[in-house]
Amino acid sequence: MACVSYPYEAPVSQSLFDRAAVVTPGGVNSPVRAFGAVGGTPRFMTSGSGPYLTDADGREYVDLVCSWGPMILGHRHPAVLDAVRGAVERGTSFGTPGEGEVELAEEIVARVAPVERVRLVSSGTEATMSAIRLARGFTGRAKVIKFAGCYHGHVDALLAAAGSGVATFALPDTPGVTGAQAGETLVLPYNDLAAVRAAFAAHPDQIACVITEASPGNMGVVPPAEGFNAGLKELCAEHGALYVSDEVMTGFRVSPAGWFGLDGVTPDLMTFGKVMGGGFPAAAFGGRADVMAALAPAGPVYQAGTLSGNPVATAAGVAQLRQLDEAAYARLDETAATLRGLVTEALAGEGVAHQVQRAGNMFSVFFTDELVTDYERARAQETFRYTAFFHAMLSAGVYLPPSAFESWFVSTAHDERAIERVAAALPAAARAAARAVAA
Ligand code: PLP
Repeated sequence: MACVSYPYEAPVSQSLFDRAAVVTPGGVNSPVRAFGAVGGTPRFMTSGSGPYLTDADGREYVDLVCSWGPMILGHRHPAVLDAVRGAVERGTSFGTPGEGEVELAEEIVARVAPVERVRLVSSGTEATMSAIRLARGFTGRAKVIKFAGCYHGHVDALLAAAGSGVATFALPDTPGVTGAQAGETLVLPYNDLAAVRAAFAAHPDQIACVITEASPGNMGVVPPAEGFNAGLKELCAEHGALYVSDEVMTGFRVSPAGWFGLDGVTPDLMTFGKVMGGGFPAAAFGGRADVMAALAPAGPVYQAGTLSGNPVATAAGVAQLRQLDEAAYARLDETAATLRGLVTEALAGEGVAHQVQRAGNMFSVFFTDELVTDYERARAQETFRYTAFFHAMLSAGVYLPPSAFESWFVSTAHDERAIERVAAALPAAARAAARAVAA
């Protein structure tokens, strides 16, 4: 077995981080990249190939983040690169309709049955923000239910924390969000249908939609309990609200039709991002034709975007989706199962309390001996063990999410050699996790 061992220091990354901090808040353009949760020097990556990333110090890592999901075929997949080169040669943005947008929309509609119409945007945040606006515009209602621990991008109304009771309105979860923006949001405990029922009862005819991650990956991987999504759908239908399933992370990742392909619960609206952009900024929201007909220019609910349906992004997305057949998903599932087995074996071997939780080929490790079913339980884990585990893996050339509350992602490019490198790194990382003490 290959065993690559790296010193902890990353001097070139550190000097880039120092430079970045002078011109960019916190030195990064998205907070989790700063390694705030695990400490140390964020690796500045310079290239990727298949399942590997190379940092500015010239060190290679097995990539188990995959750009937070999009790189499902690995880095520099030839079909995606060819499509991107072809698109770039024809021009990079026209601000007019183009065939690539139609192709990507057709690909999405063909794969995901509940999506009768789809609108392309540039980020997952834009998709969920627009879906919420559409749900409010369509129903003529203001209030929105979301779940603690589910992340839907940095939409003001969804950066909200639970109020004092399940039927009370949320409070801003960050400075900059006003009480009014959070005040129409109800934040409920995940996997708790009774709380949803109580909220509908407390606010009759006022709730526009329930938005949920189809299977949450943003508090670590916490799949819905049997019947939870179906129960949400039923309660929404009963109360005239829309069921909005956020598949930005799970969409086209866990099956050809995302989480819908696994649980079969039909949402009114769905949101997508990540995989469908092939590594470029492309995202979407879509669903019932009658709801989508309320969107401008067909209907009165305004929504727009200068770079929406960008020809390079749509070409990359179409090329990536066309590679993702049943065989590709079988391979992703198998790779994820192998890795989960290796992680379990290593941690159990050191007697470390842990849960490896999965949703299709997404998975994450919680350092706790209790099954994690909601955000409260996720937060009760021993994150200091993840910090030690993460740094031992990083030193051995395996790039894991720099937070215990994130999913790990695999690609079809993760081959035997990449898995062997992870396997070789795990025993020392498990020992580090076992020895770790709370700060
Ligand atoms: N929804 C979910 C479930 C996500 O995981 C994310 C991002 O991680 C978003 C929405 C926001 O997407 P973006 O980062 O593209 O704005």
